[in-house]
Amino acid sequence: MISKASRTSNTTKCLNLGSYNYLGFAAADEYCTPRVIESLKKYSPSTCSVRVDGGTTKLHTELEELVARFVGKPAAIVFGMGYVTNSAIIPALIGKGGLIISDSLNHNSIVNGARGSGATVRVFQHNNPSHLEEVLREQIAEGQPRTHRPWKKIIVIVEGIYSMEGELCKLPEIIAVCKKYKAYTYLDEAHSIGAIGKSGRGVCELLGVDPADVDIMMGTFTKSFGSCGGYIAASKEIIQYLKCTCPAHLYATSMSPPAVQQVISAIKVILGEDGSNRGAQKLARIRENSNFFRSELQKMGFEVLGDNDSPVMPIMLYNPGKIPAFSRECLRQNVAVVTVAFPATPLLLARARICISASHTREDLIQGLEVISKVGDLVGIKYFPAEPPKH
Ligand code: PMP
Repeated sequence: MISKASRTSNTTKCLNLGSYNYLGFAAADEYCTPRVIESLKKYSPSTCSVRVDGGTTKLHTELEELVARFVGKPAAIVFGMGYVTNSAIIPALIGKGGLIISDSLNHNSIVNGARGSGATVRVFQHNNPSHLEEVLREQIAEGQPRTHRPWKKIIVIVEGIYSMEGELCKLPEIIAVCKKYKAYTYLDEAHSIGAIGKSGRGVCELLGVDPADVDIMMGTFTKSFGSCGGYIAASKEIIQYLKCTCPAHLYATSMSPPAVQQVISAIKVILGEDGSNRGAQKLARIRENSNFFRSELQKMGFEVLGDNDSPVMPIMLYNPGKIPAFSRECLRQNVAVVTVAFPATPLLLARARICISASHTREDLIQGLEVISKVGDLVGIKYFPAEPPKH
């Protein structure tokens, strides 16, 4: 997967190891692109209207039905921006008198939505179901009926794959705690939907969780589907409630029709409804690519965070002072990587965040590994002894 990366005023073709283009749909596609062009001609780039006025086309309704079917919930609602999907929906679901319990590493859009909601916010230690239970127990007694609790409602918010950690959510354990204390679960699948699970249905499918056990499923179209926008999938009642009350539905211009068409087409490819098995091949490829790249980095002696099957793999740099040399040297050798530091991570936990795509070829991955290995030696970030090559 080759992209253009800008180096001051110049532009250089690079191997892109930093994009969220997990399934490769953010490039011309034989099924998606002609349909997107048709939708552009038919509907224009914008509806210039909110959903409840003239902003709902047949495509918007089709996408909502398709998303609900894809993620396994009864209904869905879509928005023009993933960030807004969290920051506007959380306040529409909960307010003063409610309690949000949020994973300590949740994305900024969740943090903003939670703060803006007026609900009380408590944070539990990252991906730690026992600490979630401790926090819940401080607030309510086990088995206390909802009507006798000090909170109107409690929502626990987690992510499917944590984008700075590459880590899968401990969803089955978190759901068990939520059920025990009768709290609602809200799952952000921005990085997991389309990217993991045998048929791309995200962390629920990968970990064997019944989508009925997650109350609110959120996701974005900006990663696996190569488009923009976001969705909420939930019960018919919750979706109907959001359609009647959520300001981002009532007062914001609806999702751009070609962007809607891109997501519809990408989901159809993933489901094999385009009449090919390209979707299944992409899913097998991203898994194979991710597991290959992760294990090769580990063999080289890097400290790599995250779980198998996750296409997100942070390489620890620790000292933020290593960031300029690491990214500059990679770019000099035509490999574009994203580096992350404070405030997105704690001060001394800087990292390079690699994102693997189904559209990377084996040659791309080998080129990336060779460059990262050389730069790793130069910058001094191989913290473990390298594994000797097998003969
Ligand atoms: N949730 C998570 C977990 C994210 O990582 C992001 C952005 N990468 C968003 C929400 C916001 O999505 P978007 O970029 O599509 O607005």
